[in-house]
Amino acid sequence: MAVKQTAGRDTLGQFAPKFAQLNDDVLFGQVWNRTDKLSLRDRSLVTVVALLAQGLTDSSFQYHLATARQNGVTREEMAEVLTHAAFYVGWPKAWAAFRMAKDVWAEEAEEEDGKARHQREMVFPIGEANDGFARYFTGRSYLQPLSQQQVGVYNVTFEPGCRNNWHIHHARQGGGQILLCVAGRGYYQEWGQPARALHPGDVVNIPPEVKHWHGAAADSWFSHLALEVSGEDCSNEWLEAVSDQEYGQLD
Ligand code: MN
Repeated sequence: MAVKQTAGRDTLGQFAPKFAQLNDDVLFGQVWNRTDKLSLRDRSLVTVVALLAQGLTDSSFQYHLATARQNGVTREEMAEVLTHAAFYVGWPKAWAAFRMAKDVWAEEAEEEDGKARHQREMVFPIGEANDGFARYFTGRSYLQPLSQQQVGVYNVTFEPGCRNNWHIHHARQGGGQILLCVAGRGYYQEWGQPARALHPGDVVNIPPEVKHWHGAAADSWFSHLALEVSGEDCSNEWLEAVSDQEYGQLD
């Protein structure tokens, strides 16, 4: 995704058109966009440290912190960058930077708190980011295998608003899936049917060959244990995502 910047022209287009053009077209338009040489994330880290070193913790610094976040720098990483840089640039500059960074990553801190609260409500671990299946999910999910012998049992955790795509558990005989809801609030929906709200303790028997999805409510984390029911020639078929429109109709 190309970086496009209009701040120069917006702010100084009349007063200093050449400066505005250099800012928007050369610095941001060309240099920032040389992502084959250095990623946006790395450019953000360099820029944040360069501004920090000068003690320029002003609105442009705030902009570059927000950009760093957009470019994939996590709260932990930025805290580490500022801690490391503090020894080289000066302690008070790092303090000033931390005050701003805290605001920029505030939302993420809330998300982290939400995840921690959800974990405290549940005896099974949330596990790791569910990267292997991320392409079949909208939003972030987490996976903790609990049993990988006899019957496969996995704890699947969905962040608020997260759900998996419509999918079908195929089997020639037997097969299907059982969901045991363990924490938070979520939904299960079969194609052409109203969605069913899910709460801890609820059990969902999903027959083979039925198109369905499962996931969290928009305002709640949700975890269920997913049990693989054994059968012949079992396979999963992943289909289209549950659109925001379909998901938005749930109450
Ligand atoms: Mn399923």
